[in-house]
Amino acid sequence: MAYNSNTRRMTDTMAAFIGYTAKHLPDDVIDALSRLRAEEDDPLAMEIYELMFRNLELAAEKDRPTCQDTGVLQFWIKCGSAFPLMADVESILTDAVLTATRKTPLRCNVVETFDEYNTGTNTGTGAPTFWWDIIPGWDGCEIYTYMAGGGCSLPGHAMVLMPGQGYEEAVRFVMDRMTSYGLNACPPLFVGVGIGTSVETAALNAKKALLRPVGSHNENKLAARMETLLEDGINAIGFGPQGMGGKYSVIGVNVENTARHPATLGVAVTVGCWSHRRGRIVFDRDLGWEVTTHTGFSYTSCGNEASGAADESAGAAND
Ligand code: SF4
Repeated sequence: MAYNSNTRRMTDTMAAFIGYTAKHLPDDVIDALSRLRAEEDDPLAMEIYELMFRNLELAAEKDRPTCQDTGVLQFWIKCGSAFPLMADVESILTDAVLTATRKTPLRCNVVETFDEYNTGTNTGTGAPTFWWDIIPGWDGCEIYTYMAGGGCSLPGHAMVLMPGQGYEEAVRFVMDRMTSYGLNACPPLFVGVGIGTSVETAALNAKKALLRPVGSHNENKLAARMETLLEDGINAIGFGPQGMGGKYSVIGVNVENTARHPATLGVAVTVGCWSHRRGRIVFDRDLGWEVTTHTGFSYTSCGNEASGAADESAGAAND
């Protein structure tokens, strides 16, 4: 990518935003954790919620990530076909990850498969990960950032059911994963469930579900009913915060679905932990931006000239 003032500006903004999302949870997740804490009456669970909120305070105060595992960066990009930097978006985000890794700092988590070495940059073959939606005619670009940690990625699973097994079996599939691996993901969990034709469509729907706000509901009434039933069912496992027992196991359950082949029922589940680090930023064509997930984020781009990696102002903007 050839650097110019615009690519530089978007790179700096994204590096600052990635760093910020490592250190501050999204507003909806904090609200959900606050609600669970207020409703908890188990003494140990109450104590753990206190520690979680103390952890969040210290992360902000000391300008450090909320969890040592800052994950592997994933981006879901909804880009307008008329967005001026469309061709550069992947390079911009990769450079933003390099800068954020150094400035935030983020733990280096990217290991090249088969060769089994850590790249030390949080980038590598296919990392960070990009998923794209192209919006014809729009001149803006919406970017979801997500830090996929190890523990919270572990319960992820997808399979294709016989259609006769029905949605009841899809619920059993999700509950089996939760009872087997939910504990590994630092509860209370944010659970994304995807329904589609194949493992791929179901898995991408599950990831999309995790990007939706906590407390939102699927527009389809039956899917929304599944969200509520799964939430009740997983809460009944009684994980409590960090799996130490308590009233609630989940921050929420979101279901996303697409039409499917009549002979298959693809289902997938993916999980976010209590430290659910996803952010949403929307750029306009002039690179003005709006962040809807983190009210505290502020950043003024340095707007400096082209060439090289972003300068120190990106890191300083995280304050
Ligand atoms: S599951 Fe989440 S909170 Fe737990 S160690 Fe992993 S990233 Fe951190």
